[in-house]
Amino acid sequence: MESTNNRLDKVKEEIRKRLEELNNQENLLKKKAKNAHKKLTKLKMFMKEIEEGVSQVRLREIVKELSINVRVGFPFTTLARFLVMKQLKNQIEEIEYRIKEISEKLKILEEEKKTANICPECKGLGSRTEIRYVREDGFVTPVTIHKECSLCQGKGRIEL
Ligand SMILES: [Zn+2]
Repeated sequence: MESTNNRLDKVKEEIRKRLEELNNQENLLKKKAKNAHKKLTKLKMFMKEIEEGVSQVRLREIVKELSINVRVGFPFTTLARFLVMKQLKNQIEEIEYRIKEISEKLKILEEEKKTANICPECKGLGSRTEIRYVREDGFVTPVTIHKECSLCQGKGRIEL
């Protein structure tokens, strides 16, 4: 049978790996969120520019930056402006949705990080329940006893 120390080392190693993985995921999501916010700011800026009246040249630049398929040319500038605004609104909606999704994922990760070092042996209880059968006067009585968890020494969590 495996000794408690060996088992503890293995569990600690697993928790460290898990935390590292969670941190990596968190960093990646934070980076994605940052980029999404940057793009959102840019899109809103374009929108403001168009609302305030934009030149044909500038509108063409915006269309190019958004990589959307709208032709900007006289006499269609008004139509082009309308179509670009529509696309902008769509893209903004999409990004706002993505940002919400990312922040929800980050919340879940935060929770997972908090619970990553819960003792796998006692599931955080710090003790284990055992049923012993006591024989007395010819009767067998089950008795529940609580034993301190040997892996976490009753703490319920593994200290790294
Ligand atoms: Zn335990």
